[in-house]
Amino acid sequence: MAKESKKATISIIFSITLVLSTNLYSQLKTAYPDIPRIDVHTHIGSDPKAISNYLDLRKKILDKNGIDMAVWINLGKGNDPIENPEEILTLSKGRILCGISDYSAHDGLQHAPENLEGLMKQGFVGYKIWSGPWYRKLKNKEDGFPYIDNPAHEPTFAEMERIGMIGASVHIADPNGPWGERTAWLADPIEYWKEITAWRNVLEKHPNLTVVAAHGNWLMCQDAQIDYLRNMLHTFPNLHVDLAATFQYYHLVNRDNLRSFMIEWADRIVFATDIGAWENEDTTNERIEQYLKAFQILETKGTVKGGFFGGPDIVGLELPKDVLEKIYYKNAMRLYPGVKKQLYELGFKTE
Ligand SMILES: [Zn+2]
Repeated sequence: MAKESKKATISIIFSITLVLSTNLYSQLKTAYPDIPRIDVHTHIGSDPKAISNYLDLRKKILDKNGIDMAVWINLGKGNDPIENPEEILTLSKGRILCGISDYSAHDGLQHAPENLEGLMKQGFVGYKIWSGPWYRKLKNKEDGFPYIDNPAHEPTFAEMERIGMIGASVHIADPNGPWGERTAWLADPIEYWKEITAWRNVLEKHPNLTVVAAHGNWLMCQDAQIDYLRNMLHTFPNLHVDLAATFQYYHLVNRDNLRSFMIEWADRIVFATDIGAWENEDTTNERIEQYLKAFQILETKGTVKGGFFGGPDIVGLELPKDVLEKIYYKNAMRLYPGVKKQLYELGFKTE
């Protein structure tokens, strides 16, 4: 009996410590209140409640942490594609721009090439395409288009290239960690490299396609993958990467390597989270913690205890200010149509 209650006390103390040590909302003050931040990869959807929750989150971290979350790119939710981007821009008081999306390239791309130009004119800022491991969408490999370099997708990429429509957070592969920590998402390195190679084939065929690959192109979970990403960025000048959901894996790679990579390729990296919509405003603080962990990792040398989702600790990268400016907003302002205009209208310096 006594043993049981001792155990319970220990576990209560443990959870209190865990909560205290991870509560950045009450602790973090940014050293960079003057840098606006743009999250280029979110799944807010079109529900007005979700939009107001985001605006509420913005107000909270501005008031308490001095952090200015200025603009979001909304790539829709899987079963809730955006219909009217102008309406969402208005509802969000000029802070949420939207992309069109396709959550399974394996079934063929849903937007016909001839419609893309009209969609851009309607205000959509890019085309989000999901092409992760085929077995997450298809029962048999033969049932669809397992890899992104399928010839059926060619006319779409050619049209995007022609009209200058950006590939917005194009999802290639899934995380593949080092030996012993492969991750459940894409444990097989052979399949993993088939997906990465297929993507390389697309970029070779479409040198003028401007694209932001989601999640660091999922080339950030091993040090040698980061080297390959250096090679990709060097080879394809129109390739960029977003950082969405990558923060949880930074303990898998050498901190100095990752830091050096971000400084070296700062012009080609954009900030992102992959956060979706939430209905219950009581859970806004959970999203706030996710944002703040990401900011702490990029801006400070502090340690995020328990990593991103309760994993190993992650030591912050303490990136220089000019690098943060590029990653937080300058690159996004250059890449996505409409971002510069919105920042200007919201009162930010855009020159
Ligand atoms: Zn996403």
